[in-house]
Amino acid sequence: MIASASTTPVHAMPPAPVPWSASVLTLFPQMFPGPLGQSLAGRALDAGTWRLDTQDIRAAATDRHRTVDDTPFGGGPGMVMRADIVHAAIAAAYDLPAEAEPPATPARPLLFLSPRGRALTQARVRALAQGPGVVLLCGRYEGIDQRVIDLWRAEEVSVGDYVLSGGEPAALVLLDACVRLLPGVMGAEGSAIEESFSAGLLEYPHFTRPAEWRGRAVPEVLLSGNHARIAAWRRAEAERITREQRPDLWAAHAAATARA
Ligand code: SAM
Repeated sequence: MIASASTTPVHAMPPAPVPWSASVLTLFPQMFPGPLGQSLAGRALDAGTWRLDTQDIRAAATDRHRTVDDTPFGGGPGMVMRADIVHAAIAAAYDLPAEAEPPATPARPLLFLSPRGRALTQARVRALAQGPGVVLLCGRYEGIDQRVIDLWRAEEVSVGDYVLSGGEPAALVLLDACVRLLPGVMGAEGSAIEESFSAGLLEYPHFTRPAEWRGRAVPEVLLSGNHARIAAWRRAEAERITREQRPDLWAAHAAATARA
C-alpha cells in the first residue's frame, strides 16, 4: 500500500515554478534553438529549466506577398522593417491583440538586438537571468522603423562593435549567456562566481594534465597544494591579464577599488 499520511495535501502544494522563458521575434525562426539545442542549454531546455518559443515576424504580414519591409524615407540603401508588422508580432508575443497598446510594465522585458544598443555586460546578463525571461526582437536589412522601438520602449542591446547581418546570432549569444546562469544549469555552481567579469577582472589561466607538455611546465605554484599561494597567484594573474588585454576594464576596476 502507498502511504499517503506524509504527502502534502494538493491545496497546500506550492505552485510549480514557472521556467525562465524566452520569446524570439525573427524572420528566421528556423535558426532556433540552433546551438542552444546542444550541451548545457540544450539539456536545460529538454529538462524544462527554460522555455523557448519563436515568433515568425512574417506571420504578422497582411498582404498576399507577406511583405515585412519597405524602402527608407529620405532615401538610402536597403530596406527597413515596417513598424505596423513588427508591432503586431511584438503584441502577439505578449498575447495581446495586434492593435493593442504596449503594457506599462511588460512581464518580460523587450530587448531589441542592435549594434546601436548598450553593450551587453555580465551584470546585465545576471539581472536578466534572475528575472522571468526575455522577449527578443531581431532586426534584418537596414533595421526596424524607429517608431515601434520607441513605442514599446525596447531596450537596445549590442553584442559588440561590429555589424551582423541580423539580430539572430546576437539573440543566441544573449540567451546562451543567460541560460547558463539559471539555477541547476551549470554543473559546478561555483564556476560562475570566479569566471571572467564576475569581479570586474578577466579570469586567470587554467592548466590540466600532463604537468609538462612539449617542454612547457605548468606553473609550479599550482602543484604546491598551498591554497593561499594558489589564490594569490590566480589573483595576480587575473590582474595582469586584465591590465594587458583590457585597459578599459582595468581602469574601471581600479576606480571601483579606490572608492571601496
Ligand atoms: N543599419 C544598421 C546599422 O548600421 O546600425 C545595421 C543593420 S544590421 C545589417 C541588421 C540587424 O542585425 C540589426 O537590425 C540588428 O538587429 C542586428 N545586429 C547587427 N549587428 C548587431 C550587433 N553588434 N549587436 C546586436 N545586433 C546586431
